[in-house]
Amino acid sequence: MNGVANDSNGQANGVKKTSTQLQIIDENQHFTQELSQSMKDEWHLADSGFNYNLVAVFGSQSTGKSTLLNRLFGTNFDVMSESARRQTTKGIWMSRGKDMNVLIMDVEGTDGRERGEDQDFERKSALFSMATSNVIIVNLWEHQVGLYQGANMGLLKTVFEVNLQLFQAARGKEKTLLLFVIRDHVGATPLANLANTLTADLDRIWQSVSKPEGLENCSINDYFDFMFTALPHKLLLPEKFEEEVIKLRERFVNQNHKDFVFKPNYSKRVPADGFHVYAEGIWDQIMSNKDLDLPTQQELLAQYRCDEIATVAFEAFLGKIKGFRQPIEAGKIIEGLGPQMEEIRNTTIKQFDKDASRYHSDVYKRKRNEILNKANSQLHAFYLGQLKNLSKKAITMFNSRIQEKLKGEGYDFAEVVLNARNEVEDYFKKNAESIVLTETDWTYDEEITQLQEGIDEIAAKSRIEETKKMINGLEKAFQAQINEFVTLYFKSPTPDMWTKIVNKFQEVLDKTEQQLLKKAKSFNSSEEENAKSVENLRKRSWQQLRKKIDDELADNMFLLKLRERFEEKFRYDDEGLPKVWKPEDDIDAHFRKSRDDALKLIPLFAKIQIEGIELDIPSDEEFDFNESLIILSETRQHDLTVRFKRESDAFYLEAKRSVVATTAR
Ligand code: GDP
Ligand code: MG
Repeated sequence: MNGVANDSNGQANGVKKTSTQLQIIDENQHFTQELSQSMKDEWHLADSGFNYNLVAVFGSQSTGKSTLLNRLFGTNFDVMSESARRQTTKGIWMSRGKDMNVLIMDVEGTDGRERGEDQDFERKSALFSMATSNVIIVNLWEHQVGLYQGANMGLLKTVFEVNLQLFQAARGKEKTLLLFVIRDHVGATPLANLANTLTADLDRIWQSVSKPEGLENCSINDYFDFMFTALPHKLLLPEKFEEEVIKLRERFVNQNHKDFVFKPNYSKRVPADGFHVYAEGIWDQIMSNKDLDLPTQQELLAQYRCDEIATVAFEAFLGKIKGFRQPIEAGKIIEGLGPQMEEIRNTTIKQFDKDASRYHSDVYKRKRNEILNKANSQLHAFYLGQLKNLSKKAITMFNSRIQEKLKGEGYDFAEVVLNARNEVEDYFKKNAESIVLTETDWTYDEEITQLQEGIDEIAAKSRIEETKKMINGLEKAFQAQINEFVTLYFKSPTPDMWTKIVNKFQEVLDKTEQQLLKKAKSFNSSEEENAKSVENLRKRSWQQLRKKIDDELADNMFLLKLRERFEEKFRYDDEGLPKVWKPEDDIDAHFRKSRDDALKLIPLFAKIQIEGIELDIPSDEEFDFNESLIILSETRQHDLTVRFKRESDAFYLEAKRSVVATTAR
């Protein structure tokens, strides 16, 4: 610093004063090769280490930026002359503030904003300013406060975003001061109110800035401090203006001022002799960065406005669909849900279109898609809920349809199931189709499949029940028939009795099997299932026959049979008249013959005779067919013989006594 002491506020004392300016970036966006030399030879700052500061200005064209800088810092930037109104040379200009270790940057751009032109240069220069400066003066007219476009807020959003991405995320939390200078302040609106409006705008912009990973929740105040000040109209109140500018200058030069702007933590920590390298590096990075292929101001504006319009429309949308949630969650089916959803959504989109379609068409289309997708995804939840409820209802319908039909008579099971299935699937499809909205890719294939599986399950269950019911019916009819013929054949037992019974059994069984197979067709049973049913039928039928035989041949019944057979022979003569015993009758022989005759019934009944008959009754673990042929065990046969003999003895004695009685008379 030429051996001159500097204080940290950047004030220099006794340094060679200069107002030489350098165009550090020209109209072709090239970085100057003379910065190093100017730092040394023109501004004498190259040796100042960290003891210098940098101020840049940001704002619309022709808002008196250069005028203000010149007044504040004693610089000599080009000011558009009031009479000629010709454009000053485009680029970034740098100069040193008079009597201070402060570099000042002035930006001259084209006045493209009002014409909605490309703002590539403005964006780059703003970003460059933000990445290099300690303090940025944001210059705007009072009437621009609160106007998104006018106050350059859209541009700010992009600059914030890219700055955060490119520089600050990497650099950590060093701050920059944004000093808002409100020009031509009339005074009707107090500065505090204007400041509030701007703060609110900035917060909003910051919220919409997309933040790099890890910095999602960072606050604007982590990176920026804010100051707000106002200046009177320069042309209408020139003295007042000068007065206020001198006061404002104090903030830059007097480090004891309560609003002194150069706080240590605003420093970018770049030694002055390296500044030219640093600045050029930043510019290169900005020039080569793809992220800076940024949208035009019109697009920015469109994004901002479309978002606002979408927010309003979407809030109204949410209010309208609120009512759907409760009934759907409660399992209800909302009548006309499809048309209602379609109407609400289309109204929302129409509302959005009405205001948003005037903006930049690509942005508008993109945002329209966004709100459409957002609305659709909200409605999709109701769609899925209603599908679920429809499916439940369809299952209930199916169940009650078949129950109803199966209560009746003469139905064909397969037909009942098919009709019910068609009915409820139609019901489901029709209702599902009615809630598929246009401009969506909603499907219900999966739900249909699930419904069909549910139906299959119920159908299978009820088929099993119905089959059981049918087989029970057949078995009952079967039993009635065998009961009849067993009783009949047992009444007068003959040696061919078993053949008759078993043949008859076989005949009835065959018929029953035919019926079973015929009915099974209506259940769509498989071959295997049919074979199993037939096998069961045979076994159970045989067991029924066996049971009937056992019932008929219980001990007492059997003894009765024996006695009947015996009495027939012993007590009645050939004409069927009761015998009167005479002394010459050979009672003993007659008795023996009758009794032997009766006892022949025991071996006859002891085992079912199936010789010569083809009978296919399957055996299993619990049931052995061959064993089931034996009716009377050896023991039982013996037992019955003994009991019968004892009983018949009484007849013998009775006969003997009757002869004695007649002769004694
Ligand atoms: P820049 O493009 O933002 O740098 O603006 P200039 O400093 O070149 O000024 C543009 C025009 O605005 C000039 O004619 C100035 O005389 C005029 N001007 C400068 N300061 C003020 C101000 O405070 N109020 C008004 N109304 N005009 C000003
Ligand atoms: Mg200017």
